[in-house]
Amino acid sequence: MSDVRKLVNQVLDGERLTPEEGLFLYENAALPDLMPAAARVRERFSQPETVTYLVDRNVNYTNVCITDCKFCEFYRPPGHDEAYVLDREQMSRKLTELRDAGGTRVLLQGGHHPDLPISWYEELLTWMRDEFPTIERDAFSPPEIEHISHVEGIPVRDVLKRLKDAGLDGVPGGGGEILDDEIRTQVSPKKTKTAAWLDVMDGAHELDLYTSASMVFGFGEKPKHRVNSFTALRQQQDRSLERYGRGFMAFISWPLQYESRYGRVFSGLKGWKLGGSADDYLFHTAFARLFLDNIPHFQVSWPTMGLAVAKDALRAGCDDMGGTMMEENVVSQAGSVHSCVTEQQVRSTVEAAGFTPRKRNSRYHALEPTGDTP
Ligand code: SF4
Repeated sequence: MSDVRKLVNQVLDGERLTPEEGLFLYENAALPDLMPAAARVRERFSQPETVTYLVDRNVNYTNVCITDCKFCEFYRPPGHDEAYVLDREQMSRKLTELRDAGGTRVLLQGGHHPDLPISWYEELLTWMRDEFPTIERDAFSPPEIEHISHVEGIPVRDVLKRLKDAGLDGVPGGGGEILDDEIRTQVSPKKTKTAAWLDVMDGAHELDLYTSASMVFGFGEKPKHRVNSFTALRQQQDRSLERYGRGFMAFISWPLQYESRYGRVFSGLKGWKLGGSADDYLFHTAFARLFLDNIPHFQVSWPTMGLAVAKDALRAGCDDMGGTMMEENVVSQAGSVHSCVTEQQVRSTVEAAGFTPRKRNSRYHALEPTGDTP
């Protein structure tokens, strides 16, 4: 039996891969080695015949940012002609559309605006909670939380506590990219480093905020950096489960979208292999399911890969279609063409893959009367 087969069988027997074993597998396995095993492991965590999804909307409340990530086509520096901060009327219109479409979650993400105090975020959350009580508020990824703490001069945990008191339900896993500071320093030198990203999530878990872990790959990093990133997530999940009895609810990854409309992406990183193919994505997803043995749900990334690849990902360890989004501005500006889909398209994709679709809320509680909680 090959060493790859032995390691895959080890996971199927319920034994955790060490980081060294993970790196060996990542470097030596092929997609057919991992996909069927990942599909079997997925069945340990969720109903085998069901695939869940969420009706939600992304709202990018500002594109003003001072962090200058090299891969980002979304942000504008302060004072730029195209810089914006959404006002209440614009927010209200978006949330009304979401509510009318049966949506239950808004995902608020934005740039690192240098002049917005924490009270701006608190007032926004409280207004949303009061005006749109049926819509959950997952907002402000770890780098945004860290940025607010710097602007305000208070600890990250105080920021999280104040935002939760104001109406925050969850912290999305954005800004994780590759959790290895060698890569982070190259592609986003001003952005939250690995330990700080994980510390924000530790604080969120302590406060019982819903969280997910995201991973963008294809910055030119090596397999060892990817496995380091997986290892950092797995260790944090172990810590959170031990300390608080809860942790990341879900994992999602996608390859870097680097088609630049402005021709300035990655000017300092020429010669690196960027992004990834559909097979790269499926391989990475299946590997993640085998290595991350303590995160229950895996979401497909249809906004970057499209629904056809998303359908395949449901056979590579994923059990969830993520959100319908209604609107997406960040990866779409970096070259992704799949910026939103209808609820019916999500359901049809799930059914075409041979599963039963089931609508859920942020915490993976079923919102359809048929069947059990997934
Ligand atoms: S990825 Fe986020 S933090 Fe980085 S420049 Fe873009 S908006 Fe700013």
